[in-house]
Amino acid sequence: MRKINQIYIDGQFITPSGTEYAPLYNPATEEIIGEVRLADATDATAAVSAAKRAFVSYSKTSKKERIALLRRLSASFSERMDDFKAAMLEEYGAVRGVIDNLLPYAPQMFENAAKTLESYEFTQTRGATTIVMEPVGVSAVITPWNLSVVFTAQKIAGALAAGSTLVVKPSELSAIQTHIVSEAVHAADVPPGVINIITGRGSVVGNALTTHPDVAKVSFTGSTAVGQQIMRNAAETFKRLTLELGGKGPTILLDDTDLATSIPAALTLGFLNNGQTCFAGTRILAPRSRLDEVLETIESAMSDFRVGDPQDPSTGVGPVVSQKQFDIVQSYIRLALDEGAELLVGGEGRPQGVEKGWYVQPTIFTGVTNQMRIAREEIFGPVLVVIPFDDEEEAVSIANDTPYGLQAQVFSGDTARAHRVARQIEAGTVLVNRIFSDHEAPFGGIKQSGIGREHSTYGLESYLEPRAITS
Ligand code: NAD
Repeated sequence: MRKINQIYIDGQFITPSGTEYAPLYNPATEEIIGEVRLADATDATAAVSAAKRAFVSYSKTSKKERIALLRRLSASFSERMDDFKAAMLEEYGAVRGVIDNLLPYAPQMFENAAKTLESYEFTQTRGATTIVMEPVGVSAVITPWNLSVVFTAQKIAGALAAGSTLVVKPSELSAIQTHIVSEAVHAADVPPGVINIITGRGSVVGNALTTHPDVAKVSFTGSTAVGQQIMRNAAETFKRLTLELGGKGPTILLDDTDLATSIPAALTLGFLNNGQTCFAGTRILAPRSRLDEVLETIESAMSDFRVGDPQDPSTGVGPVVSQKQFDIVQSYIRLALDEGAELLVGGEGRPQGVEKGWYVQPTIFTGVTNQMRIAREEIFGPVLVVIPFDDEEEAVSIANDTPYGLQAQVFSGDTARAHRVARQIEAGTVLVNRIFSDHEAPFGGIKQSGIGREHSTYGLESYLEPRAITS
């Protein structure tokens, strides 16, 4: 049994003032594997004070010093990759494909930020004005449990590059990963108070940070509902906001696509991270003229998405993170059947022969209209829908008929045609014949998928305020 009973404030591992312990589970076995002592509002205040003190000198550091710090962090995170892998597997059932393909993004985030800094000019001139890009101030970073290490690294990198100091509040469900992140930060010789990391409940620590008058900016990745609450809290003191929220992304298969490659790609993205990915393409839009062929290709591709033990390297889909998430996903599968959708693969309950573990059968529905709740709401589990369209215009109209706008995919044999369609999709990112975004590009959502962008200069500038000096 693991016992995590320290938080990281002002360069030191300390016992939190909070006294509540939360259990940690292995979703593959449902067993309790440890417990974490949670920080409280007093700890949040101490962390903000440390970040505020550190801001005085860190905000004045040179580009060279920040680049060196970012490179030390990249090296330090790289050294802990095996520990991160073990924690992701144990703590949320991440499968080998996700760990191998996505975890390397964590050290890369620091490298990318260092590269962005190299060519970034903090002092710019426009006409008679000198524009000085100043660090925004103490930033609160709040992250979800899925891909916790990557999202945390991404936000730390952006804030540090800009000269801001931070308080990080990762999810309560990621305590093991968070502890390793804290150790990696400590090993990178980060000046005390520049990065403070405290695990606590959203309703307690998250609330304390998003209402604290000394916090200038909140960068949040998580659900749309919590994003709305954070925006309300932030309004009181006009905090700057980056909100990376939920999605219900369309994957459009135009009628000239090669289904033998686009269907496996669509399913890989749809079931990514056991179906728990904000940018997943959970609505597959298929040409009615090729619908039978699409459904047959999906059925035969399903052998690559076998659900099972995440320890087994051949497993394509592992368990969902918690009993609560398992129950939510099951209720959506029942809802889909009640709404009149037809099962193509999967269905209710655990896979045959599996008695425990929060395993959901990878499930795909056909006979779905875009008005059904399963086509409109984020499920956050391995459940996809196939919606037919008659022509390009209808595909675009279905794709855009959603409250979300995070990421979309267009697959076509004709790149120029795919780009023409992509330009009409309302989403922060539209990928053509690929499923992973480019870290040189801005990432973030429109509509209810969020506000602001991360990565590259867009991410850097989200932690900066321009000051105009005109003579
Ligand atoms: P969540 O919104 O429940 O929690 C996210 C974080 O917010 C956690 O650290 C939580 O403790 C904290 N929190 C909860 N209530 C809070 C409050 N009142 N004030 C401040 N903080 C609070 O999300 P989750 O279940 O951890 O993650 C899944 C969600 O995250 C999905 O909706 C998914 O789409 C979204 N997500 C979005 C992106 C993106 O880049 N757009 C990436 C990953 C996940």
